[in-house]
Amino acid sequence: MTTCTDGQCNTSFKRDIDNYLSMLRLFNESTEDFLYFWDLEDDRVYFARNLGEYSDILETSDNSYRRYDICKVIVDEYRERIFEAGCEYIRQSKDKMTQEYRIRLKNGKNVWVSNTVTTIYKDGKAIAASGCISLNSMSNKVDALTGLLNSIKFREDMDAYLETQKCGCLVVFGIDGLKDINAKYGRDFGDCIVKKVGAVLKDVVGAQARVYRMLGDEFAINLHHYDHDEVEVLFNNVQFLLKGSCTISAGVVYYNESQSSEISGAEIYQYAENALDGNETVGSINFFSTEQHEQYLARLDLLEELQGSMRNNYEGYFLVYQPIMDAVSHHPVGAEALLRYKSPTKGVVGPDRFIPILEETGLIEQVGNWVAKTAMEQCVEWRKKQPDFYISVNVSYIQLEKCGIAEDILTILQESGLPGRALTLEITESNRIERYSDFNEIFKKWKQAGIKIAIDDFGSGYANFSHLKNIAVDKIKIDRCFVSGINDNEYNLQILTNIFELAHNAQVLICCEGIEERDELNTLALMEPDEYQGYIFGRPFDRQFFTDTYIDSENSAYQERAQKHESLKASRKPANGYDLPSHKDGLQILKAKISKLPLDRMDLPLDMCPYILQMMDTGLWMMLFNEKAGEYLMYVSRTCARILGITEYMEPAEVFRHWYGRISEDHVYYVNRGVDKILNKGEMVQLEYTWNHPEIGEVTVRCVGIRVLDVGGRICIVGYHRTINDLVRPSILDESNNVEGSQDGGGMYFGSK
Ligand code: C2E
Ligand code: CA
Ligand code: CA
Repeated sequence: MTTCTDGQCNTSFKRDIDNYLSMLRLFNESTEDFLYFWDLEDDRVYFARNLGEYSDILETSDNSYRRYDICKVIVDEYRERIFEAGCEYIRQSKDKMTQEYRIRLKNGKNVWVSNTVTTIYKDGKAIAASGCISLNSMSNKVDALTGLLNSIKFREDMDAYLETQKCGCLVVFGIDGLKDINAKYGRDFGDCIVKKVGAVLKDVVGAQARVYRMLGDEFAINLHHYDHDEVEVLFNNVQFLLKGSCTISAGVVYYNESQSSEISGAEIYQYAENALDGNETVGSINFFSTEQHEQYLARLDLLEELQGSMRNNYEGYFLVYQPIMDAVSHHPVGAEALLRYKSPTKGVVGPDRFIPILEETGLIEQVGNWVAKTAMEQCVEWRKKQPDFYISVNVSYIQLEKCGIAEDILTILQESGLPGRALTLEITESNRIERYSDFNEIFKKWKQAGIKIAIDDFGSGYANFSHLKNIAVDKIKIDRCFVSGINDNEYNLQILTNIFELAHNAQVLICCEGIEERDELNTLALMEPDEYQGYIFGRPFDRQFFTDTYIDSENSAYQERAQKHESLKASRKPANGYDLPSHKDGLQILKAKISKLPLDRMDLPLDMCPYILQMMDTGLWMMLFNEKAGEYLMYVSRTCARILGITEYMEPAEVFRHWYGRISEDHVYYVNRGVDKILNKGEMVQLEYTWNHPEIGEVTVRCVGIRVLDVGGRICIVGYHRTINDLVRPSILDESNNVEGSQDGGGMYFGSK
């Protein structure tokens, strides 16, 4: 020892050790721990018990070892760090030190130990230390299955870590579908998977951090100084090494000084767990953002309020009703009940925010029953005035999965006194539709009671419509995504046509949802659906407004509305269609008009123009182009429609296709170039080309057009169209005379004889 070099001093120190060791041996009797005395000067450790019984360390006569040799029983990954920490302890003369690591026992097992050391001072100098290596103190902090540290230890370590270090990154790994693995292959197999995941995580992380087995299928690692990419690499490595056994997902949270001063290790763990839950697909990794954090807190807030309101007799929950109209009569035949929630702190919250929370927490079961009850009671009231009126109630598939749903609805129906046919249940189409056959049993019970089943949002999620045959449904509600902009989407129109055909064949009723525009309605009407629903007929309204406007036919609001909806029907086709007066009738009308013509004014009366154009077989047209949107619309005068051989009502897009599609093949390029000229040069352009008339066949037409103005992103060109192969074109010079002649040769002559 540096402080005592003479032999006497040495002897006295040796005696100290002996005394101390005899004391430790006494304690030995009452503990399984390894007590020792550490000579800091020689860096030699004296144990009170023979270590050779437990580990592969070579036995010595006095149970004393060089610290370096003892470190050999420490599991590789910890050894260097623990040895270094010991050296540091000697250099810095700390008062106390605790280390946790794993050692290898004689039987080959690795066990966690906790090693605590306390310094012994003599004359103010650190000369030695007494210590205890304990297996037991760790026993409740180690997971029995994997041998990894457990969640108790995780919390302890995390809190200790946060006291000194403020930044880090916590990763929580979850084994995907462990529950299913257990159920399918047995618990023993599941345990093997858990062990394997633990071992792989340990291998990949190495000495850089501790791996904790948390509850169930979760593992946690608190990483320091890992950036996103590094965490991702680590995740991918783990995933790769587990290939063939299972997949894992991970949730990651980065915490920094400002956060860690306020939140505990347990909270950080919660966030990482949320991030893990936030993974949309299995086998993926999700980083927890501050945004998500706020969303999460807001969600918790809302959930608390939703639950509170339920306990408080559903205060804050209410229903609004959207009318469903008969497609032929445009009369209201039913209403869809839509749930709303008025939060005491946030005001009215949209269903897209709170319904997913009710679904995820299973509260939808109870709230759904409340909706059904309230809606049916309302319908009973309305049927007093409108006896055939029905109510449509949404049922999510989460509700369908709860046992007892079939009976719950039937009981509510019975209690309300409503006949089954007055109730429709809307079930959202989702990718779980394959499971609908499981639900068929439920549907059958409902159908026996006369209840109708509708598939909601049809077409929005699942492309295969063939299942329609296999499910006992009465109605499909075509999703708004097909309806909005139907006129601009050839593809959607095609799909819709197919859906309509399938539904009609399967005798399933069709309701078109989300109709907002008149031209959407016009197009849908051609397909002959059974019902309409959408803002064009009414938004979701509160009970009273709905009653006044859709139920109580004596109310002025009802009458006003009915009139409006009646006019929507009338506008389905243009008045008069294309039943033009014949050429002969036109001539008569013209004659009558001429007889009344004031002879002292040069203005040709406007109302005579169409007849003159008719006599002249000259059609007027207007085209609207939006090339980017692929939109080509053609509007034609009645005469033009006749010249083009159009006998039935057509949409402007169809008129365009009719005209363009009949240009003779040889002339398409020429016409395209001409139209380009009209568009780009703004010049008046004359084209003559061969056109295939639907009845007459090939005709020569002349077309003159000019670009006039742009409207709403569309280019507008106007012009006239005339068939010219029926025109008589006299030659400029007569053989005999310099005269210009008229058609019938018998009339007037200009010029000189
Ligand atoms: P949904 O069943 O498809 O209901 C139709 C939704 O489309 C309603 O939105 C309605 O307001 C909206 N809508 C109707 N016509 C138009 C239109 O012309 N244009 C546009 N842009 N939207 C239109 P809301 O009320 O926000 O409901 C959203 C969803 O919440 C519902 O979609 C339904 O899936 C769910 N939901 C509402 N109430 C309940 C309920 O009581 N139980 C369950 N399980 N789900 C409900
Ligand atoms: Ca619905
Ligand atoms: Ca819908």
